[in-house]
Amino acid sequence: MLRDGEWTLDELARNFVVSKKVIIDDLEHIARSVSRPSRLQIHPPTCEGCGYRFKGRAKYNDPSRCPMCKNEHLRSQRFRIAS
Ligand SMILES: [Zn+2]
Repeated sequence: MLRDGEWTLDELARNFVVSKKVIIDDLEHIARSVSRPSRLQIHPPTCEGCGYRFKGRAKYNDPSRCPMCKNEHLRSQRFRIAS
C-alpha cells in the first residue's frame, strides 16, 4: 500500500483497522527493513497557519500543534515507499 502513494497515519490506521500506535511501530520497522534502493519517504507535517514545516523529527506520530504560532490545524505528515 505504501508503494502506491502517500498516506497519512489516520488513513493507514483506518485502512488496516488498527491503532495509530501499531502503524507507527510498523513504520519504524519498515524504515529499517526496506531494501535499497527503496526507502521510506516522509513528508513532514506542515502548519496551515504559518506554513511552518516540522523538520528532522525522530518520531512518526503527528504533532498536536505548531511551535511557532500555536495553531492546531496542522496538515498531517504523509508516508510512502519510494524506489
Ligand atoms: Zn504555525
